[in-house]
Amino acid sequence: MKLTVLGSGSPEPHVRRASSGYLLEVGDDCILFDCGGGVFDNLIRSGRKPSDVTHLFFTHLHSDHMMDYARLVHAAWDEGGAPLKVFGPAPIAQITNAYFGPDGLFAHDLRARTELMPSQAVWKARGGTLPRAWPEPVVTEITGGDTVNGETWYVTSCTVPHAQPALDCMAFALAHAGRKFVYSGDAGLCDQLEALCADADFLIHWCYRLDGEVADPEMMGLTPTPSEIGQMAKRAGVRQLLLTHFRVQMDTAEGHAAALAAMAAAFEGKSGVLEDLQVYQIG
Ligand SMILES: [Zn+2]
Repeated sequence: MKLTVLGSGSPEPHVRRASSGYLLEVGDDCILFDCGGGVFDNLIRSGRKPSDVTHLFFTHLHSDHMMDYARLVHAAWDEGGAPLKVFGPAPIAQITNAYFGPDGLFAHDLRARTELMPSQAVWKARGGTLPRAWPEPVVTEITGGDTVNGETWYVTSCTVPHAQPALDCMAFALAHAGRKFVYSGDAGLCDQLEALCADADFLIHWCYRLDGEVADPEMMGLTPTPSEIGQMAKRAGVRQLLLTHFRVQMDTAEGHAAALAAMAAAFEGKSGVLEDLQVYQIG
């Protein structure tokens, strides 16, 4: 499996980081986890086309995890790509319909692109046929505990505490050829997440707070520190641990050094802080 980091940031604007997005190539499939703002541009920078993405999993529907969703679907459609397979919590089907349905936000654009003669001529010149259908991503709503099976891989999920009850929030584990990749999404620590991380080869875990940063008790329970994440990863038998989703105020040389030292004190495997467009081979 090959991981390309397409977004390691947060909702905050950042010159070096897009919001959340992680691309995993598994056999012939190209599986994107989350699609926050800037992820689309990093997909192109990484040398891929929008229609290369075969599957998209949403951990939750905070904007920084789905802002580039419509752009990806529209651009892949415009290339004539196969419909994207989308998995995520409700109401992702309603959101998709609100973008691409008959009365959706893009209805005027799609009518123009499919019904006007000059646009039809451009489409036919690229090998397309008429009538031209609108984008039709294949959406499956899932929740924590659900499993999704690919040809050579499967994804398991669990509910994680983050933005309930407004949003259903999940973490995902993908298993392929004896290897296991886990992505926490945005998550407070919990028994289900620790179980999902058991014997993982590679764990991406969000980090919203450094050790020593005091917040109100409810917030602290939802935002584990690098040492707490490292301790959990050690208990779960994780082999490699990468933190992501730093806030701008933490994203300094001092902040990184503090996070790396705290993780190293708790966790013996390889650890680090992700950067956009990094590539990791898993297995
Ligand atoms: Zn979130």
